[in-house]
Amino acid sequence: MLEGKVAVVTGASRGIGREVALTLAGYGAKVIVNYCGSREKAEEVVASIKENGGEAKVYQGDVSDFDTAKEMMASVKKEFGSIDILVNNAGITKDNLAMKMSEEEFDQVINVNLKGTFNCMKHVARIMLRQKSGHIINMSSVSGVIGNAGQMNYCASKAGVIGMTKSLARELGSRGITVNAVAPGYIDTEMTEVLPEDVKKGIIDTIPLKKVGTTKDIAETVAFLASDKASYITGQTISVDGGMGM
Ligand code: NAP
Repeated sequence: MLEGKVAVVTGASRGIGREVALTLAGYGAKVIVNYCGSREKAEEVVASIKENGGEAKVYQGDVSDFDTAKEMMASVKKEFGSIDILVNNAGITKDNLAMKMSEEEFDQVINVNLKGTFNCMKHVARIMLRQKSGHIINMSSVSGVIGNAGQMNYCASKAGVIGMTKSLARELGSRGITVNAVAPGYIDTEMTEVLPEDVKKGIIDTIPLKKVGTTKDIAETVAFLASDKASYITGQTISVDGGMGM
């Protein structure tokens, strides 16, 4: 489905990003596995892709840094010749009630989740415009759609991602480039495993499908949006949340 395509996946050392990298590679894409701090885990993802006959490379870089994002896109373009797919998955949480939330907690989450997505989209846009093709998929969240107590910073960043997705979809649509977002619900990763058991149970009770989602649920949706099967879909936010956000 993605044979020969070049895909950059940010935050691909763990969780959803890891599964996205493995899945895109499974469909034939050459994958750049971006990470920030988890070098060994990112290298394991690359090793696993290579063991299965695929092509992949690690790229360390903090997406919240404007110049780092620029260098990453330029370096991938130079080495691989094109960037066909960008998955802006890197994300963090710094949860706190609004009254207790520090300025630093707010800024850190906005810098990685929102500005990091902007940085990567901005620097890949010129490359995709020249190619007159490309698919960008941004990781939003059900929290950015319906809000969540204790996550004002995170919800702002993820709602912002939806706004940026629609804006760029309008800017790049005439050049054959699609820009979409995926809004996962409650997915089983390190980000969510820190939640206390009673909180987890409380969340599952609010999900119509009554279960936690898997990283594979998200990765397959990303792969679809990254493929030509989704060539007439742009500016959309696809909820993969067991019905949680409807
Ligand atoms: P995770 O397990 O905590 O993994 C986060 C990934 O982001 C790691 O690979 C991490 O890399 C990377 N990362 C963090 N800061 C970065 C930075 N500044 N630059 C580059 N990479 C960075 O999280 P996850 O649960 O897989 O979530 C992935 C995405 O899905 C996030 O955007 C999250 O908001 C979204 N999401 C998750 C859920 C859920 O239930 N899990 C629900 C809705 C949305 P290093 O370890 O190398 O630093």
